Amino acid sequence: MIAESMDRIRITGLDVFARHGVFPEENRLGQHFLVNAVLYTSTRQAGRTDELEQTTNYGEVCQVITDTLQQHTWKLIEAAAEHTARAILLDFPLISAVELELCKPSAPIPLPFGSVSVTIRRSWHKAYVALGSNLGDRRGLIQRALEGLSALEEVRLGRCSTLIETAPYGGVEQGNFLNGAVELDTLFTPQELLEALHTLEQQANRVRQVHWGPRTLDLDILLYDDLVLHSEQLTIPHADMTNRAFVLEPMAEIAPYAVHPGLGKTMEQLLAELKERGSC
Ligand code: ATP
Ligand code: CA
Ligand code: CA
Repeated sequence: MIAESMDRIRITGLDVFARHGVFPEENRLGQHFLVNAVLYTSTRQAGRTDELEQTTNYGEVCQVITDTLQQHTWKLIEAAAEHTARAILLDFPLISAVELELCKPSAPIPLPFGSVSVTIRRSWHKAYVALGSNLGDRRGLIQRALEGLSALEEVRLGRCSTLIETAPYGGVEQGNFLNGAVELDTLFTPQELLEALHTLEQQANRVRQVHWGPRTLDLDILLYDDLVLHSEQLTIPHADMTNRAFVLEPMAEIAPYAVHPGLGKTMEQLLAELKERGSC
């Protein structure tokens, strides 16, 4: 997310009386919390038209912040901030990122101090996920996975490619695959997205036996913003995507100009290069 280059709406000093804290007295008596928020959005359309519908109504944002903080009791301001940022991103479609500072000026510390606060930045992320199945009702399994993804509040589905019939990859004798790719906007971190994908694979009764063997459902993260990540659990962009026509063809259909951040090449270019290599 390129929030730095976006326009901002800034709210400062919103005063909310709420009941967050580790101590029971804090939960019973309540205290004042102060909120500062920066909403990352584009104000261009509102600026050109002078129409309220073209922007985010900051009065409504203040109301959502107030309601979220007053309708719950969290021990930690970290949790209160996390849920408040999430509520803003879920409720206001034009806001792509939010920076939220939650201050607790009357925190029970037996020392003279001004205020304590946490500041967090949360945003929607653009991800692409590969879809594959070669066991059972392949099309139905992929369809259910898409429904499962779109049922998650943290996921908004974008374009989905045509599903293509492909020969198995990796040398294991098995049936043909149906493959595709889907674009999504997500509030999940890469690790959380992987966990959500694994849950959907398990719901499709996937059994992990042979590596690259037959499976009811395989969901891989291809791209996540312009992130380049190597960890024990995750490699992003997907390590082998540049060698797989069954990944690059669906990607070239839904996101031809998406750039592989490690290589600086578009999906369309990578597909053309793969085809060239295949024909030598
Ligand atoms: P391949 O990743 O080569 O397509 P596979 O999909 O058959 O092989 P799995 O058995 O589904 O492999 O996954 C094994 C592990 O790969 C996962 O548990 C996960 O931790 C890891 N992994 C690493 N990078 C990714 C990624 N980008 N998307 C999904 N899983 C990944
Ligand atoms: Ca895979
Ligand atoms: Ca996989």
